[in-house]
Amino acid sequence: MRSFTLTTVADVAAALEAGRRGGRFIAGGTTLVDLMRHHVEQPEALVDITALPLRGIAFTGEGSLRIGALATMADTAAHPDVRDRFPVVAQALERSASAQLRHMATIGGNILQRTRCAYFRDVSASCNKRVPGTGCSAVDGINRGHAILGTSEHCIATHASDVCVAFAALEAIVRLHGPDGERAVRFSDFLLPPGDTPEREYDLRSGELVTAVEIPAYPPDLQSGYLKVRDRQSYEFALTSAAVALHIPDGVIRTAKIAVGGVGTVPWRLPGVEQALIGRRAEPTVWADAASRAADGAQLLPQNGFKADLLVRTVERQLRIVGGGL
Ligand code: SF4
Repeated sequence: MRSFTLTTVADVAAALEAGRRGGRFIAGGTTLVDLMRHHVEQPEALVDITALPLRGIAFTGEGSLRIGALATMADTAAHPDVRDRFPVVAQALERSASAQLRHMATIGGNILQRTRCAYFRDVSASCNKRVPGTGCSAVDGINRGHAILGTSEHCIATHASDVCVAFAALEAIVRLHGPDGERAVRFSDFLLPPGDTPEREYDLRSGELVTAVEIPAYPPDLQSGYLKVRDRQSYEFALTSAAVALHIPDGVIRTAKIAVGGVGTVPWRLPGVEQALIGRRAEPTVWADAASRAADGAQLLPQNGFKADLLVRTVERQLRIVGGGL
């Protein structure tokens, strides 16, 4: 590992000043330290932000649930408001990584985590995301776990996070603080599909700090949950996953928010499935009909083509679990 400096800061202003001088923010370090060990990232200056007052989880006056960027995955999953109002978030977190990692890793770090594509982490391989213009080893390589939605000729890596799938479904807001002040970015605009610039993964400006993720207000009786399908039941990334949130007053589906993971270059919303649900009675035949649209637009490769059928079945099963019928 290349040598680097480490500065500790105690407030946001000091963090922003250190960031302005080129420092990279580090909190739990569960992604960045790994990447430094593999020589994928080689920052010269790290800024330890773990002392910043950004751990709180609470409802705002407008009814949004604000999750501080430094709240750990474990603390977020255990928080009573998260468990009570948004079980989809708690379940996505509990199905992520290992218990040890969940106690170290933060929500801010989670949404900024980089891809788990093996070629990205192997500095001897060609990878457009790590070194733009060098090619993509996965296209003709081992790509069983790679994406089928949102891909480009330049990158087909899946987004690895589970909780980002839940945040995408719930249309969360990312709160940022940078040299030019504060701003809020919709989750669907924050994470960027690869297109022609796979090295750009999020809408984060130079020196900007993620301060919180905010889930907007929903009816208190919103029903939600997260289903993750993987090769083994712990410490494994999703082959497919589905975050589903439904509001079904009087038996009629009024709100349907659905995003899927393990299949997209970013957490993938399914507007076609949502539209097929809204206004219909929550009856057993509805779920399969709506879920049949889940893989529309998928670009399949020989090794990952199985994900299309698996995705449809994952979404149908989770609709039945959340909406009734299982
Ligand atoms: Fe790199 Fe993306 Fe290709 Fe993986 S899929 S090798 S991250 S360009």
